[in-house]
Amino acid sequence: AKQDGGGQYCFYTEEMDQHITRKLQLENGLRKAIEQEGIDVYYQPQVDVRSGEIIGFEALARWNHPEFGFIRPDEFIPLAEETKLIVPLGEKILLEACRQYQQWMDEGHDLERISVNLSAIQFMDPTVVSTVESVLKQTKVAPAHLEIELTESIVQDSTQALPVMNRLKKMGIQLALDDFGTGFSSLSYLKDFPLDTLKVDRSFIQTIHENEKDRAVVDTVIQLADRLGLSVIAEGVETEVQLDYLRSRGCAEYQGYVFSKPLSKTEASALLTQSMAM
Ligand code: C2E
Ligand code: CA
Ligand code: CA
Ligand code: CA
Repeated sequence: AKQDGGGQYCFYTEEMDQHITRKLQLENGLRKAIEQEGIDVYYQPQVDVRSGEIIGFEALARWNHPEFGFIRPDEFIPLAEETKLIVPLGEKILLEACRQYQQWMDEGHDLERISVNLSAIQFMDPTVVSTVESVLKQTKVAPAHLEIELTESIVQDSTQALPVMNRLKKMGIQLALDDFGTGFSSLSYLKDFPLDTLKVDRSFIQTIHENEKDRAVVDTVIQLADRLGLSVIAEGVETEVQLDYLRSRGCAEYQGYVFSKPLSKTEASALLTQSMAM
């Protein structure tokens, strides 16, 4: 029994060690990846529900670790936030995404926007406004074509985040509230925040066909956006049935696997060229 217990104990600490070791390895790896361009930006099309045309792209970070292989943003973004590495990482992604957007425009594509995710931590960093300014200047992207996606977690720190949001808004940048409906129960911040767009979280879209309550939520968000003078985009649209429903409800834009997964810049360029030729 003693041996068993000992064994279990050892096993347990080993697991913990492995967990901590992986975390440390990832943290060091992340630092290196940021320095050495080891993080890629992928692009998911944002699509006009009626015309089926590509309106823009959302930039999504991808990390191909030399040892562990592909690591999902759900794992490394929280780590980047914890270690504040999200600040230099976010800056790189913003720069890369804006560069790519401008390249597509220079090649003759007509895209309304590039959407970039900024974490709440970045909004707490006072340099964020000058960073955005400098990226727009370097890449010659007009502010109206940049959309910044933020999540409701920003509400918690709104005394710091609100002035930043207002300054970005004043520059002419678009602000979208991501994962809408999953965060805070109070909606009062909607009237204080200078938002342009609500993004309906994919959890409500996914079960639209089987769940009357999810339909009610989606309908309500679309109506709410309309009443508040905001645009609305549905994310995580995977089936034609879901898309048909959104169309019937007057939802203007969507993203999702039914149209395309996030693509490498080469794949995204090919898709744009192909849709231009049609
Ligand atoms: P998000 O901003 O809500 O991004 C949408 C996520 O849904 C992406 O996951 C995308 O690949 C996935 N997705 C798109 N269409 C579908 C669909 O039809 N079905 C399903 N099941 N999923 C779909 P991804 O790329 O793994 O990113 C996860 C999260 O990581 C993002 O959620 C965002 O919160 C964060 N993230 C990714 N890139 C960045 C970044 O550059 N900066 C920051 N701050 N966060 C990022
Ligand atoms: Ca997003
Ligand atoms: Ca989202
Ligand atoms: Ca999310």
